[in-house]
Amino acid sequence: MVDTRAGVRPRGVAVLGSTGSIGTTALRVIARHPDRFRVSALTAFNNAPLLGDQVRELSPAFVGIVNGNGSQIARGWITGAQCLVQAAERPDTDIVLNAIVGAAGLDATIAALRAGKRVALANKETLVLAGELVTAAARRGGGEIVPVDSEHSAVLQCIAGRPRGDIRRVILTASGGPFRGWSSDQIATATVDDALRHPTWQMGRKITVDSATLANKALEVIEAHFLFELPYDRIEVVVHPQSVVHSMVEFVDGSVIAQLGAPSMELPVLYSLTHPDRIEDAATPRFDPVAQSPLTFEPVADDEFPALRLGFRAGRSGGSAPAVFNAANEEAVGLFLAGKLRFPEIAEAIESAMDELAGMSSATRDDLLLADSKARAHVVQRFGG
Ligand code: NAD
Ligand code: MG
Repeated sequence: MVDTRAGVRPRGVAVLGSTGSIGTTALRVIARHPDRFRVSALTAFNNAPLLGDQVRELSPAFVGIVNGNGSQIARGWITGAQCLVQAAERPDTDIVLNAIVGAAGLDATIAALRAGKRVALANKETLVLAGELVTAAARRGGGEIVPVDSEHSAVLQCIAGRPRGDIRRVILTASGGPFRGWSSDQIATATVDDALRHPTWQMGRKITVDSATLANKALEVIEAHFLFELPYDRIEVVVHPQSVVHSMVEFVDGSVIAQLGAPSMELPVLYSLTHPDRIEDAATPRFDPVAQSPLTFEPVADDEFPALRLGFRAGRSGGSAPAVFNAANEEAVGLFLAGKLRFPEIAEAIESAMDELAGMSSATRDDLLLADSKARAHVVQRFGG
């Protein structure tokens, strides 16, 4: 047999947010496949010692640090927020793995898509903040967005190239987070430590709090709307505490296809790089259905977790509402982690910002960033003191 890969150079991957939970997972996955992928660029916010270790190991051509402290920065590193776009646009970057947390990842995603590159997108806040702009940038520039989020990777794998018209609905699974089964009274007194104790996933702090409020699932509903061009009444959420069924797609003939696996981000990260192909990866945990059983499903407790309902409302409203939802949530989570907000006030802050800032323009990036900053200011003013 002819080896069709002979002579093919490994694809260059820029890992934005390389020091985080997804970033370090991605570097582990890439290191297992040197014949397929090499790291072209690394960026981080401020963890210079870890970034330095990664640079020594991987020798990327470009290193960026947004908020570098002088003495820890090596010669040649690019500082400031513009390093993200520079890393994304490099000619030796074929794939931009955007593992930044929050709205800060927006410009790099758009730049990569405009330049016709693949964006392996973990940074879901980007799609929520500016779904229309991001998908338009992909259409115009010829770039493609491939999700890293496990639920959306599952949906993509279940769809397997079938046309949109074949899909009746998608069912996103949610672990339910650490407060599944808690009463509203118990949730009212939840501490930061309680919220950071996720039952099935090890992740960065912001997404771990989002999983506890279910704001993460709200972001994922909006993410699914833009990725798969589905109306909101075809996107549902079910609680699945084991996090083994990563999501399901129901087709028009009634058949339901699910994607299963251990709760590990390694497979969705690998698939975001290889899609639509699959490659041998012996390190992915082997699936044992008996060991994983039982698999259970239950409805979302809407009253205890109002952020999900607010996310559907923001998605259906469209325009700048998802940007307001996302920014208010980011700000409120920051205040909660700083001990300045009680847990239920995260959803209250989102709702208050959405009520206050309805109808702002969403026509341009700057309009959306204005809605973003107004929402943050509103939350700080109303809830931060
Ligand atoms: P994390 O906090 O562990 O890492 C975030 C990374 O982004 C770090 O490298 C940090 O240096 C960088 N960063 C933070 N703020 C930045 C800024 N203003 N400018 C530039 N870089 C910045 O977060 P994470 O858990 O890895 O999550 C990253 C993204 O992936 C989030 O959008 C999250 O929702 C999504 N995601 C994460 C998981 C997971 O298992 N961790 C799963 C699905 C989706
Ligand atoms: Mg997810």
